[in-house]
Amino acid sequence: MAEVATPLIERLVVVGLGLIGGSFAKGARASGLCREVVGIDRDPETRRLAVELGVVDRCVAELAEACPGADVIQLAVPILAMERVLAELAALPLQGAILTDVGSAKGNVVRAARQAFAGQSLRFVPGHPIAGSERSGVTAANAALFNRHKVILTPLEETLPADLDKVDRLWRAIGADVEHMTVEHHDQVLAATSHLPHLLAFNLVDSLAKRSENREIFHYAAGGFRDFTRIAGSDPTMWHDIFIANREAVLQALDTYRADLDELRGAIQAGDGQFLMEVLTHARGAREYFGRILASRTQAGAQVAAHHSLTEGHS
Ligand code: NAP
Repeated sequence: MAEVATPLIERLVVVGLGLIGGSFAKGARASGLCREVVGIDRDPETRRLAVELGVVDRCVAELAEACPGADVIQLAVPILAMERVLAELAALPLQGAILTDVGSAKGNVVRAARQAFAGQSLRFVPGHPIAGSERSGVTAANAALFNRHKVILTPLEETLPADLDKVDRLWRAIGADVEHMTVEHHDQVLAATSHLPHLLAFNLVDSLAKRSENREIFHYAAGGFRDFTRIAGSDPTMWHDIFIANREAVLQALDTYRADLDELRGAIQAGDGQFLMEVLTHARGAREYFGRILASRTQAGAQVAAHHSLTEGHS
């Protein structure tokens, strides 16, 4: 975890204390960079637990109770709920608070923010942590969730460098590796590397499961199918939101993939062994390359963890 520092932020407000919002709030609290971390959640039980579990200093139900006077407001609600929250925020006297978010797709949140704040100054630093878990809700909040995980910030043309720097420092203090890219690039990259694989896994498992003659695959299923079902076990509501929110980039990635799949189908039909071997060996090589990247990341994470346990032991 991060070193204790003088507060960079007087009041951080986190809207939506689920897995991601709760983990961010808890990590921010532990970082020592915020004088006060205030949560906003509509569920009274979540509000009670958030304080009891040390996720926030205090928790309220209404944006109007905590947002005016805040330095940074983190939006951690489902992507399709962002529009309504942004519209409510735009009606409050925010006095220059920096807005940021954790939505898994960025273009639609940025559009919603620009629409809500039309004619007003918008201090927005969009973000997306590439971390998660199969758990959800405030009880899953984990201050170390983002440790050595990538967080992508997608500053807008009008984003002030000082605002970007503040949000960047906050994520780093929570242990994340922060990168910056444009909104468009983020949505394209994530569509290809995350959204498309999830779409294919949901589709393949559904396609096989809904045909009764295929039911026996569940009895004879080997590792390959199990890996697909693991991905298809992800939260349907969150993925519904992502496919809708990032539909343009997802459709583009899907069309490219369909063209490649058709080509592969043609090669199998034509008995084109050379083409088939090229695809299979190329994919295997890509897997080995990715494996090396993953291994170096795991090694770096282990070194950081070892460093922290050493420094904790001395303090
Ligand atoms: P979560 O655990 O289900 O938490 C969502 C939170 O938002 C809950 O506190 C929920 O409160 C609140 N909420 C739901 N609908 C709302 C609405 N209409 N208005 C106000 N608050 C509402 O979900 P999560 O996994 O933390 O995801 C939150 C955000 O993080 C999403 O935008 C997602 O795209 C992004 N994200 C998720 C992951 C991941 O792997 N989970 C990774 C990266 C980014 P209630 O309990 O009252 O419903």
